[in-house]
Amino acid sequence: EALQDDPMTSVRAKKIHANDEFSDLTTVLNRMIDRLQNLIGAQQQFVSDVSHELRTPVTIVKGHMDLLNRWGKDEPEVLDDSIKSSLVEMQRMETLINEMLNLTRAEQIPIENIQEVTEIGGLVHRVFDNFKLIHPEFIFTFDDDLSNHANVKVRQDHMEQILIILADNAVKYSLERREIHFALSQTPNRVEIGVQDFGEGLSSEDAQRVFDRFYRVDKARSRAKGGNGLGLSIAQRLVEAYGGEITLESALGSGSAFTIRLPLYKEKTDAEKLSD
Ligand code: ADP
Repeated sequence: EALQDDPMTSVRAKKIHANDEFSDLTTVLNRMIDRLQNLIGAQQQFVSDVSHELRTPVTIVKGHMDLLNRWGKDEPEVLDDSIKSSLVEMQRMETLINEMLNLTRAEQIPIENIQEVTEIGGLVHRVFDNFKLIHPEFIFTFDDDLSNHANVKVRQDHMEQILIILADNAVKYSLERREIHFALSQTPNRVEIGVQDFGEGLSSEDAQRVFDRFYRVDKARSRAKGGNGLGLSIAQRLVEAYGGEITLESALGSGSAFTIRLPLYKEKTDAEKLSD
């Protein structure tokens, strides 16, 4: 009792207690700091990557402006060339900026607020038919095992964007064997969409990195084909925002198979509700 009344002891007791709590707090705070540092690091990396990507077109346009300034008035060829090349680079910058916005927006989709229900079979067939039309030099095949009216809670334009990214890549990175295969199937809870090519394929190290922002196996080749290394990271973020996943099976020289899995939406239709 005497100890309890002693202001010094009670302070000390409190202090020890506080120390315990403080050490828990320190752990939590340290963890938060680690996480924040990682986030800040990722953000800095993003800014540095973006600056890098924008620097190339800016440098090229600047070079052309310099040519125009010196010879543009006297040499119509320089005028033509430089304006055309500058427009190409401007287009590249515009695409890059739009895609970076897409990426940021994909990360912010509030999935619980999405009301749009998309009938997935019809949509995949539409994208498939369009690609068939645009690329008559390719053989397109489709394996459709979907029962009719499989619905997914996903915005239609997002779903189209994901498929276009995959099919565009299949076209871009196919060499001799110009064949693209689509597949649709479902499990009790999920729908699976496959886009496969028989082109150059990826090594296992590259396959692990292709979903990273700005990652390209061959920067120069991808650039020549209008790529900026953002397509797959946008596709992945969109799919994940909708509670799905995207996976890749690939082998160097024999092609790549991308699979998207999304949760099936099983709300009953009005007709079904009535017949209950
Ligand atoms: P890009 O705009 O460069 O195509 P992506 O993010 O769509 O950007 O793809 C990143 C990289 O992954 C590409 O540069 C390419 O090297 C590789 N890649 C993507 N799809 C395929 C594919 N179907 N076959 C082989 N390589 C691919």
